[in-house]
Amino acid sequence: MRLLIAMMKHETNTFSPVPTPLARFRPLYGEAAIRAFRGTGTGLGAYLDLAQREGAQIVLPIAAGAPPSSPVDDSAYAHITDTICEAVARGGFDGIMLDLHGAMVTQNLEDGEGLFLKRLRAIDPNTPIAVSLDMHANLYDEIIANATVVTGYRTYPHIDTYETAKLAGEILLRAIRTEVKPVMAWGNEPMLPHVMRQGTDDHPNKELQHRCAAMSAEGALAASLFTGFPHADITNAGLSAVIVTNGDLKLAEDLRDELLGRAWVEREAFVYKIEPLQKSVARAKAMPPGQSGDGPIVLLDHYDNCASGGTMDATVVLAEIMRQGLEDVVAFGIYDPEAVQQAIVAGIGAELSLSIGGKIKMPAIPAENPPLTVTGTVKTISNGRYRNRGPMGRGVQMDMGPSVVFDTGAVEIVLISHHVEPSDLNCFLSLGIDPSQKRYVMLKSRIHWRAGLGPMAKAVVECAGVGVCTSDYSQLQFKKIRRPIYPLDLPNR
Ligand SMILES: [Zn+2]
Repeated sequence: MRLLIAMMKHETNTFSPVPTPLARFRPLYGEAAIRAFRGTGTGLGAYLDLAQREGAQIVLPIAAGAPPSSPVDDSAYAHITDTICEAVARGGFDGIMLDLHGAMVTQNLEDGEGLFLKRLRAIDPNTPIAVSLDMHANLYDEIIANATVVTGYRTYPHIDTYETAKLAGEILLRAIRTEVKPVMAWGNEPMLPHVMRQGTDDHPNKELQHRCAAMSAEGALAASLFTGFPHADITNAGLSAVIVTNGDLKLAEDLRDELLGRAWVEREAFVYKIEPLQKSVARAKAMPPGQSGDGPIVLLDHYDNCASGGTMDATVVLAEIMRQGLEDVVAFGIYDPEAVQQAIVAGIGAELSLSIGGKIKMPAIPAENPPLTVTGTVKTISNGRYRNRGPMGRGVQMDMGPSVVFDTGAVEIVLISHHVEPSDLNCFLSLGIDPSQKRYVMLKSRIHWRAGLGPMAKAVVECAGVGVCTSDYSQLQFKKIRRPIYPLDLPNR
């Protein structure tokens, strides 16, 4: 057996000013990609394991994944898709296994994945194609019409990326052996679930995803509910569902309708309520001090999550924490390669004032993003590399770029040079910080931090700051999204 395996992942925040050139994808090719992903808890890791189990020959033309940011440069999209299409055009494959995101917008395309799959199908009309997608996929007809099987994550934080691809791959292998004939039904609802309300530990997505899992006992080969990515001004942003069955389209449609109906009933529970920043920080300050080892109070700077397209250089929440005089804080972090270099030049132990953050303009949102001047000591200098301990992205090599811990006395501020969301314990441990021993941990994260850091948190305070992942949809100008859509337009009908 001969399998083509590839990865192309980007969640596009159309309001983000962060550029998305090819370099942001850090593409790996052939053997280098296989070496990087074999044995990891990722979609590619799952496909590689399946291929090995089957004794299949593997062709892996490219593995390219970028942290969320603005629409992908057309030249980057062309390079990645051309590389895969050229490999497919050489022919001789029994199956194609793709690890995609499903919310890729390019400078000229709303639906990067759909157009790519359509092109693949035109090159090779017969070879079955498995696609695993992120729960934040925004689905289009062409994604489903040009794939044999599509599966999506059932967890947020995404700790089942491996299992999702394994399921898609297993169905594909059964289809290759003609044991099953997959058919799919998909649909969407006019609703934009709020990302802060999408966690699968919480109502209502917890119950909705449980229902998806239960559908496998009722004849679904795979059932996926996508909560969608709302920070995308494209026609199909929002909630959708896909059901795969063995040749039974009616069953697929019925289960799809049931899932979409259940989600629509829960639409109000997907709406997020905002608390003013000053009040949130004061509430955190007033929480009684715990015993040593009780765990930290987590302050979420969730408007500026780089894993949703944030610049990660907004300082508003950090400034309020310092203004209200919170102590024993670690803040992860501020993206500021310039400040990092200034601290490195000053050297470990040097005392200095630094102007951090506020360097990236955010024209899509009305709020200001001022820099923050901090005075303190350079405590740690690092190359910023670590390997994820998991459960999310287990084993994947991460790179924060040159990184510094800057200590003001009250706050240890992590300054980094590449966008990395603090979702794994090792991003702290690699810098010599044990967050469990801190009174407060400020994180630029929304839900994923729960994967690696959730168990240690004593309490969580969500802080409304500034950023292109704003929880206040009224700050975003939607022009292309299908209307009406809840909660932007619709009354609670
Ligand atoms: Zn996601």
